[in-house]
Amino acid sequence: MREGAVGEAARPLHVAVVGGGISGLSTAWYVEKQAAARGVPVACSVYESAGRWGGRILTDIVDHEEGRFVVEGGPDSFLTTQKPWAVDLALELGLAERLLGTNDAARKVYVLSRGRPVPLPDGVFLLVPTKFKPFLLSPLISPLGKLRMGLDVFIPARKGDGDETLGDFVTRRLGSEALDKIAEPLLSGIYNAEARRQSLLATFPRFRETELACGSLIRGMLAGKAQARRATGSEARAGVPAEGRPSSMFASFAAGTEEIVAGLTRRLEARLRVGVGVRALRPGAEGGYVLEVSGEDKDGPVDELIQADAVVLAIPAYDAAGLLASVCPEAAGTLGAIRYVSTGTMSLAYKRDASAERLGGFGVLLPRSEKRPLNAVTWSSTKFDHRAPEGHSLLRVFFGGSRSPGSMQLGDGELLDVVKKELRSIMGVAEEPLFHRVYRWERANPQYDVEHLSRVEAVERALPSGIWVTGSPYRGVGLPDCVYQAQVTADKVVEQLKGLQRSAL
Ligand SMILES: Cc1cc2nc3c(=O)[nH]c(=O)nc-3n(C[C@H](O)[C@H](O)[C@H](O)COP(=O)(O)OP(=O)(O)OC[C@H]3O[C@@H](n4cnc5c(N)ncnc54)[C@H](O)[C@@H]3O)c2cc1C
Repeated sequence: MREGAVGEAARPLHVAVVGGGISGLSTAWYVEKQAAARGVPVACSVYESAGRWGGRILTDIVDHEEGRFVVEGGPDSFLTTQKPWAVDLALELGLAERLLGTNDAARKVYVLSRGRPVPLPDGVFLLVPTKFKPFLLSPLISPLGKLRMGLDVFIPARKGDGDETLGDFVTRRLGSEALDKIAEPLLSGIYNAEARRQSLLATFPRFRETELACGSLIRGMLAGKAQARRATGSEARAGVPAEGRPSSMFASFAAGTEEIVAGLTRRLEARLRVGVGVRALRPGAEGGYVLEVSGEDKDGPVDELIQADAVVLAIPAYDAAGLLASVCPEAAGTLGAIRYVSTGTMSLAYKRDASAERLGGFGVLLPRSEKRPLNAVTWSSTKFDHRAPEGHSLLRVFFGGSRSPGSMQLGDGELLDVVKKELRSIMGVAEEPLFHRVYRWERANPQYDVEHLSRVEAVERALPSGIWVTGSPYRGVGLPDCVYQAQVTADKVVEQLKGLQRSAL
């Protein structure tokens, strides 16, 4: 074991970031930026145990004889205006020209209802209908179900400030059909969660805020619409996307989501150590922490002790629990209790005539109640340009999690058979794909069960000085949430290092 690294980094202060997904890389980015802005001399290193950067972000460029396909294994897009932080980061990285908005003219989403895809009524935003006519005419919700949803305006807000499940909230306000046909496939689908366990406050706190402020979701939505109308043409022009920002609600990059990872690794000054994982963590004899790192990098096997003044764990909660077991058993215990599920995606390429695009739209959500072996289907090449060559299309299916755990157990061949059968039954796709790709994400989706935020706060309170956790297990799973948490974490790290620097003077 090379021990020479210990103590070498007394000045500048060393920040060790563990985990090279979007959370770890963007934490390093904001630590460097904020330290430079505040005049704190900092050296950052990022350790990633896998052989590639990006964590769950994985884009495959498939050069097929028919042309180039951009295949996403993990995230394929991120929110833009509602949660602007990933777009902000892309702009900081000089990726403005690479940003690619969704084709919103084709934006139609279907929900499978009794085996048939039924369009989600135009104007349903997340949960609440914002346009009444298409909602009233939609066959997705029965007349009784629609009446029940309308009762929302008469039901008083729940008293108390505790958490509840998304399932309880939606059933209480809008009824069980709204839960089954809209909230569960759409809102729980985003989190790969179970509505009957999913924390409302950790996943959709705005709904609760609206209930408290307006006494009803429908009234809140109408008030929001009126406000937006009043503001149009005045200072709400601020809501109009600024130059370089996509105007669509979601965006990615021309060559896929992994462009943001490449942008970060290109621009970071940090020492980037891919293929090198952190095996153990302990307090240093002279303050700070010692990390045992091992693995293999371009120079061969690695086995080192690294001294750090600050450590940021941007890794799954169960991995963080392992590293903190002796340093902080209390935090480790709570981290270990954060549940995860495993999910997967399969992308299939077709000649356009043979494709599922004949339905139009972005895809189909499969509610839990339909009991299908898949969770959703996306038309990747309708949603975005540049995903398939001219005359071809690319489709992506989601499986696993609590909705279809059995599909995770299937081998690739069996899974392909199941997917083809489902695509034929749901959308009439009878043709053979030109190729397919499968991505399995084991224990990849943290579950924000009810009272999740209390657990996160307990972890943050228990952590010793100089150690932070950040990323998808805590305060938001989407890429923008991860970037935002990275900014907040970097701010705390630099603030503490500034204090350390002052006391050393
Ligand atoms: C299939 C799928 C689709 C998704 N789609 C979307 C989407 O469309 N839009 C969206 O916004 N979000 C989406 N998400 C969620 C989003 O991708 C993740 O929440 C986000 O990428 C997590 O980033 P992270 O950096 O926090 O964690 P990760 O990406 O998990 O990165 C953590 C890294 O830490 C490394 N690591 C673990 N232990 C150690 C150790 N001891 N030492 C060193 N390294 C270690 C791991 O190898 C990993 O690379 C999707 C997720 C999945 C799985």
